[in-house]
Amino acid sequence: MPTLIVIASANAHKAEEIQALLGPEFECRTLGNFPGAPEPEEDAATFAGNAVKKALSLVNWLKQNEDWREGWILADDSGLEVDVLEGAPGVHSARYAATANHPGNSHDEKNNAKLLAELKGRARHHRAARFRCVLALARAGQYSQPQLFIGTCEGRIDEAPHGEHGFGYDPLFIPEGHDQTFAQLGDSIKSQLSHRAAALRELKDLLASQ
Ligand code: IMP
Repeated sequence: MPTLIVIASANAHKAEEIQALLGPEFECRTLGNFPGAPEPEEDAATFAGNAVKKALSLVNWLKQNEDWREGWILADDSGLEVDVLEGAPGVHSARYAATANHPGNSHDEKNNAKLLAELKGRARHHRAARFRCVLALARAGQYSQPQLFIGTCEGRIDEAPHGEHGFGYDPLFIPEGHDQTFAQLGDSIKSQLSHRAAALRELKDLLASQ
């Protein structure tokens, strides 16, 4: 029997990556399978704070659902940190290009265009960046402090978007040791190098040891 995990995210790209990285021993559901599930405001100052908030809010909501008092709840909070921008977009990665008129998450293309504008004219050595992922894992039915897993992936920001794969900032992010973006390199390379893959390796080790 596969281990059941509910991913506390409505981001289908993220959920697909998590399912692929976890493999067939795990069966993932997403918020899309639970109409009415809360999506709490991601207003914490850290990835960890937001990941814990998302995980516990879903644990709490699923208590009313008899079928979901077993298994695991997993929240992923992640984003891009650019050194020369003092860590921005950071926890605001999903809504980097939001405006007063259009608050909330902004389109990937707009976020990418804003990042390129901020880095315009910057030489390669001033384009260092990393993806960071914090996973919060909680047991269904247990409102206690989730276990955290952290993964990072170092790289730099390209001068223009390249590639079709992935999502978010993938067309701009060139991982260390490569000359192409994640969106050019594709899923099989990203799944070896990514921040999410690193955090999920730790998580799988923990679940396998239980
Ligand atoms: P969250 O849903 O608040 O964690 O937002 C994460 C945001 O960070 C996404 O909307 C993307 O913009 C960005 N992000 C996180 N992980 C990745 C990734 O693997 N590739 C590209 N962008 C990512």
